[in-house]
Amino acid sequence: MHPHTLSGEHIAAWIESAAEVLEREKMLLTELDAAIGDSDHGINMARGFAAVRARLGGLDRGDIGALLREVGMTLLSTVGGASGPLYGTLFRDAGQKAAGAAALDLAALAGCLEAGLDGVKRRGKASPGDKTMVDALGPAIDALKAALSAPEPAGGPGGASLRDALGRAAEAARAGAEATVPLVARKGRASYLGERSAGHQDPGATSCWLLLRSLAATVGA
Ligand code: ADP
Ligand code: MG
Repeated sequence: MHPHTLSGEHIAAWIESAAEVLEREKMLLTELDAAIGDSDHGINMARGFAAVRARLGGLDRGDIGALLREVGMTLLSTVGGASGPLYGTLFRDAGQKAAGAAALDLAALAGCLEAGLDGVKRRGKASPGDKTMVDALGPAIDALKAALSAPEPAGGPGGASLRDALGRAAEAARAGAEATVPLVARKGRASYLGERSAGHQDPGATSCWLLLRSLAATVGA
């Protein structure tokens, strides 16, 4: 299965796999948050995506915008802390951008994630380099956009294939999350530590990478 577009079924499969991954990696995220926060990021993410997964069955897959919006609203209402409202905003605003779409090609996907990132930045006021989820999501979106203008592969519909692009985006998110290690946090709870926040990987950037890795895996990257 190497689709050129993402369907509502792909989105549902992504959310399903993200819920599994976040449950499995709960301890990793919790340990990262223990170092520079309050040890709840793993629990927050696992709880939020478990709630999303529980609602998934009843949702119409025909409208990706509605699907993503529902993910966002569920995260907003079930996850506390900073990450609930921020991830909630990410999915809600991505969903607003995708309103009515039955499928997303690479350009539409990049546009919809960018709308989500804009929402996160508006709500959390974080800039690149502040040691937050923005440092993983931003480079991932940049990778999608770079793939859009990449030379056409044989038989491709223009630009890199969706699978390759998502693989590169997940890789960029991983690199972005790792690059938060030396940074001093300027937003969120970790910023209370000042210089002592340096030397630890940001939990939210790490969960963002896990989400994008799940998305890439959903299309076989
Ligand atoms: P809390 O910090 O309230 O305990 P979590 O532990 O669930 O919430 O999430 C922490 C993560 O949220 C951080 O690692 C960071 O990536 C992200 N975060 C915190 N504040 C902001 C912000 N203002 N903008 C973007 N991301 C943020
Ligand atoms: Mg926390």
